[in-house]
Amino acid sequence: MEDTPLYGGIEAGGTKFVCAIGSGPDDIRAEERFPTTLPAETIPRAIAFFHRWQDAGGPALSAIGIASFGPLDADPTSPTFGYITVPPKPGWANTDFAGAVQRALGLPVAFDTDVNAAALAEWRWGAGQGLHTLVYLTVGTGIGGGAVVHGRLLHGLAHPEMGHMRIPHDRRRDPFPGTCLFHGDCWEGLAAGPALETRWGRPAETLPADHPAWELEAEYLALGLMNLVYALAPQRIILGGGVMEQSHLFPRIRQRLLQLLNGYTASPMLLQDIERYIVPPALGARAGVLGAIALAQQVLYAGGE
Ligand code: ADP
Ligand code: ZN
Repeated sequence: MEDTPLYGGIEAGGTKFVCAIGSGPDDIRAEERFPTTLPAETIPRAIAFFHRWQDAGGPALSAIGIASFGPLDADPTSPTFGYITVPPKPGWANTDFAGAVQRALGLPVAFDTDVNAAALAEWRWGAGQGLHTLVYLTVGTGIGGGAVVHGRLLHGLAHPEMGHMRIPHDRRRDPFPGTCLFHGDCWEGLAAGPALETRWGRPAETLPADHPAWELEAEYLALGLMNLVYALAPQRIILGGGVMEQSHLFPRIRQRLLQLLNGYTASPMLLQDIERYIVPPALGARAGVLGAIALAQQVLYAGGE
């Protein structure tokens, strides 16, 4: 245990920050949480947490991982790497988050979205262990997706924005125009929590399990998942976020996805074992901060790239 490299993790959420020091789910040595206010207050508070560890003579940290709300720039070759770019959250636009942490602590800093970090944590320690390629999707205030491809998070032009895929929208069945500020009835606009609330006039968590909302929700989620199955060929899809607390959605989504695939896939496994293909997360609320630690570990593995 003494020789285990230790990492710092910062889960930066829209409402709260969680900072931790450790090497994985069974080894968290210190943790602190506080509300997200403005960057000038919240980022120094996170830095102070790690300074206290250092000042108390705690074992040295190898790297820091930041799992943040976005949109953000996670491209290490970009001049604005480490920045939160244009978030809906007031006060945070153009914030050099990773740079501030790096300068204050003098350690390598990994920086990625909260959903990418959760995908990585589920792959390392959760519902995706033993696989090399998977998708983690959160259905909450928005729809966000992260893909681990051959053990690395998928990044291209930027981080993926799976929630803004377009899926068929039958306006006779569902005249609701969608909530996405950019696209109206994209996947997130039709199927995230706020879409449920606006379409049905009450918060999603108050809709009973036999409400017609859920049949439509399962339809939309299955349609988007079908696209992900064919586009990325994940070995498993993990579905988290507040809306997926409705556990009755899982069997509905699995069944509808099978119907939509209609027997056409390169992997009979998927058809035979759909219960193990579409699964809930295993790390629950800990995925965020563990994801930050997993990001920190990867920055070392990826060193020099
Ligand atoms: P965030 O996406 O902001 O991180 P959540 O994943 O909790 O947070 O998503 C919040 C959204 O999920 C809200 O739209 C809320 O109505 C919805 N939600 C939260 N809990 C439930 C639940 N148990 N059942 C259905 N919807 C839920
Ligand atoms: Zn959209």
